[in-house]
Amino acid sequence: MTTQQQDMAQAPADVHSFAKPAEAVARHLDLDIAVNFDKKTISGKATYQIENLAKGNRIVFDTRGLNIEQVYLGEEQTPTTFRLGDEAKFLGRPLEVDIKPDTRLVTIQYNTTANADALQWLSPQQTAGKKHPFLFTQSQAILARTWIPIQDSPGIRITYSAKVKVPKELLAVMSAENPMQKNSTGEYTFEMRQAIPSYLMALSVGDLVFKPIGQQTGIYAEPATIDAAVYEFAEMDKMLVAAEKLYGKYRWDRYDLLVLPPSFPFGGMENPRLTFVTPTVLAKDRSLTSLIAHELAHSWSGNLVTNGTWDDFWLNEGFTVYFERRIMEELYGKEYADMLNVLGFQDLQNTLEELGPDSEDTRLKLDLEGRDPDEGLTDIAYEKGNFFLQNIERAVGRECFDQFVNKYFQTFAFQSTNTDLFLDFLRSELIKGDEKLAEQINIEGWVYSPGLPVGFQKPTSSRFAQVEQAYTSWKSGKPAAQLNTKEWSSHEWLHFIRMLPEQMSEQQLAELDKAFGFTNSGNSEVLAAWFIHTIRNNYTTADQALETFLTNVGRRKFLVPIYKALAATPEGKKKALAIYAKAKPNYHAVSTSTLDAMLK
Ligand SMILES: [Zn+2]
Repeated sequence: MTTQQQDMAQAPADVHSFAKPAEAVARHLDLDIAVNFDKKTISGKATYQIENLAKGNRIVFDTRGLNIEQVYLGEEQTPTTFRLGDEAKFLGRPLEVDIKPDTRLVTIQYNTTANADALQWLSPQQTAGKKHPFLFTQSQAILARTWIPIQDSPGIRITYSAKVKVPKELLAVMSAENPMQKNSTGEYTFEMRQAIPSYLMALSVGDLVFKPIGQQTGIYAEPATIDAAVYEFAEMDKMLVAAEKLYGKYRWDRYDLLVLPPSFPFGGMENPRLTFVTPTVLAKDRSLTSLIAHELAHSWSGNLVTNGTWDDFWLNEGFTVYFERRIMEELYGKEYADMLNVLGFQDLQNTLEELGPDSEDTRLKLDLEGRDPDEGLTDIAYEKGNFFLQNIERAVGRECFDQFVNKYFQTFAFQSTNTDLFLDFLRSELIKGDEKLAEQINIEGWVYSPGLPVGFQKPTSSRFAQVEQAYTSWKSGKPAAQLNTKEWSSHEWLHFIRMLPEQMSEQQLAELDKAFGFTNSGNSEVLAAWFIHTIRNNYTTADQALETFLTNVGRRKFLVPIYKALAATPEGKKKALAIYAKAKPNYHAVSTSTLDAMLK
């Protein structure tokens, strides 16, 4: 066996994929598809270069809600037989293709159906420009199989090329080398030369334009949004420089952003070479750009070194949050990064409270067998993962830890890793039998135990100490308008709003609103935090703004706590259902599957 075969044979099974990569594995994909906005379908061919490792008679792909029309083998495209297995919840159906021991090429002709959860088709009305329809994909965690028949496991990597036909007035972009400009034919070709896992397959089609930021960086957005985005993300080049200084060369050539319509369910998705990003970070003051640092950091943790299964998700997200905060520290100083750590800790505490102290979902190493990974992936992977890495950094010193992280990224570049592999690497490279150090790092407590380990050091922030002072004076009677808030960034505001008491009078809410204009804020983080208070205390002045927000924004992180706050009372639930009925077409399936369960 080659080392690659050995890796494959020894890799832990991915319980969220039907693929059997130790038997036969895909290495390269040639996608040739047409995007039909009238029928809301994608149809075409996926041709795989495969390696038949076991020299057996089958290769297995993942599909969900796909129509498989025909499967062919070889250059000459000889039809072959195939079977679709039984439908399994979340996972879809295995596509078992009959091959020969020497088969190198498998072509699957298919089309998508209305059940393609990765795809969101937006009407012109749902875009910023209101003139053209829009399509974007979201493949993570296991939705790539709803728009491409694919071996849909993060432990399997492929290179790809693609030919995509779209309506002539629209531009197509992918997680690949991109065209930058519309052409008159509506046919675009793409090339991704670096091997990626399936969840990073991404496509978007719309009335898009491109503007550069630096030599290597730029932005795709609708014409109505592009200038605001160029202003907001002007510092992305500096972030790239800071990231490379920390953890080595950026391995993907270009780094561009695609600003999506507001229905995008996430803050960002780290599709390689082209991060997809929510327009809710266009705050006009560059105050929410840590999100870009986060997505950029994924170019190392996640895209370059990938969690082998979704049980190891913390390796993607914990590292990325740690790296994101380091980039922000490089750019804006330690006090700035401290604020992000404290806010992250608050999120973590909320999640720990919600899940309960003994919940197995609060361990870093998860066990998501039998569950939809999208539902099991929480702040734990992000923030507990980050604090674990900060704990190691404290134990060995920053210089030593940075060397270790650099070596980790180099050693596992373009490979999948998992918790065991990482911990072995940690033991052999850092701990080296030092028992005292092992005790400080406390692998058992962080990785395999629920909650936070004994002796956890809570993060602190000097800038937030001033916010807390202001809050205390307001509580003891000082008028809101007289508080010293001049220098506050949106992080300080968020901290302030989160501190507000659960019970407030109409008068108190009105006073704060008048002094600080929360209800009319253009900052989505501030708004989302403020609405929790206006809902709890039935401050109806904010109702219209709340409804506008919910019908426009599809970002799950905002929707879930707001709908939850509404659903806490029978009256609020009625309101929630009425708004949801109107807003649902603006949400992606990732958001609606969570909300459907919550509001049923
Ligand atoms: Zn992330």
